[in-house]
Amino acid sequence: MDIKDKIYEIREDFPILKRKMCDHPLVYLDNSATTLKPKSMIDTVVNYYTYLGANAHRGDYEMSAQVDFAYENARKLTKEFIHARRDEEIVFTSGTTESLNILAMTITNTWLHENDVVLSTVAEHASSVLPWLEAGKSKNIKVEYIPLDEQGRVTVDNFKKALHDKVKVVALAQVSNVLGYEAPIKDIVRIAHEHGVKVVVDGAQSIAHLPVDVQDLDVDFFCFSAHKMCGPTGIGVLYGKFDLLEELTPVFFGGESNARFNKCGKVSLKKTPLKYESGTQPIEGALGMAAAMKYINELGKENIHRYELALKHHFLEKIKDVEKVKVYNAEAESGIITFNVYDQGKLIFPQDVASFLNTRGIAVRSGEHCAKLLGEVLKVPGTCRASVYFYNTFEDIDKLVEALKDASFETC
Ligand code: PLP
Repeated sequence: MDIKDKIYEIREDFPILKRKMCDHPLVYLDNSATTLKPKSMIDTVVNYYTYLGANAHRGDYEMSAQVDFAYENARKLTKEFIHARRDEEIVFTSGTTESLNILAMTITNTWLHENDVVLSTVAEHASSVLPWLEAGKSKNIKVEYIPLDEQGRVTVDNFKKALHDKVKVVALAQVSNVLGYEAPIKDIVRIAHEHGVKVVVDGAQSIAHLPVDVQDLDVDFFCFSAHKMCGPTGIGVLYGKFDLLEELTPVFFGGESNARFNKCGKVSLKKTPLKYESGTQPIEGALGMAAAMKYINELGKENIHRYELALKHHFLEKIKDVEKVKVYNAEAESGIITFNVYDQGKLIFPQDVASFLNTRGIAVRSGEHCAKLLGEVLKVPGTCRASVYFYNTFEDIDKLVEALKDASFETC
């Protein structure tokens, strides 16, 4: 299927695309921050509150059993979406950040020892690196960084050079949220496993855009958020190999994750995944996420990815003669376009460019994009980031290019 042929039909599924911003039709190019939502997903969330209503895994009545069924069905769909081995490998969390924090805490508590090393990169989102820096303080765990190549990419060679006996975990993103490069995860995992090293992958920027097969990648853990793939906010996934999740101890305790406990604190936890799901979960979120997955499955991730690249190449083609726009990641195989605008050789502050684009109804992100260590590679205080998704049009890109041509110190 060619998404281009269906684009206006697809856009009808997204009610928000009818709204305006600053009196212009909305051109939403901030999809790496969060994606827009199709009506089928919104209806699913509303349906839960309208007709289902009960808590999950608690009641003994019909309405509650219906919720249990829908909630566990969402887990099954999620398993299929990332091709996990079994439903129990899917833990629902509030999103990528919570999943990565849980992993950093439990892995540090359970597996790491003084002076062990976690390998990361300076391109990581704060949510991928800060949890390790924080969790490691109590045990003096060090975080080291795989050097990036000149363009800001993770390479297998650099990974091999950074690996040594003290490295116990590699934690990195499959796709960088700033430069959009895909890391060679499969090779990294293979080499890491040869050295007994576990791999934690931040899938926040890949899940919506690339086919993800956790068995093929052989990753130990993979985390993502629903809101970056047409789903609701407040729900995400921590995937882990079942035996590893069973070996680790949760960091949150409370209702429904335990089978029994006594006054002295002796606790029998339920099996994975329930032992990680203490307290009432975002049930409507799980159901909404499943609806979003169904929507994406119907379009097909390969089709989505191909279309995003077509949009990006259209931008690159149109911008190539606009000298004042510097693109940092033309070669990245993703729909993330990172750039800055210069006026008479001087950098226009990215936030000013974003504010100017706003006046034309165009939404982009500006700044450091939560990857505060990457400035040392890019050597600029920040960038603008336009990130596309399957409901964007070639006209959206044309509007962005026209606006960038007009951007100057006077307009910004
Ligand atoms: N990791 C990456 C690469 C991201 O781009 C983001 C969000 O922008 C996150 C982690 C954090 O995701 P969330 O805010 O949904 O927890």
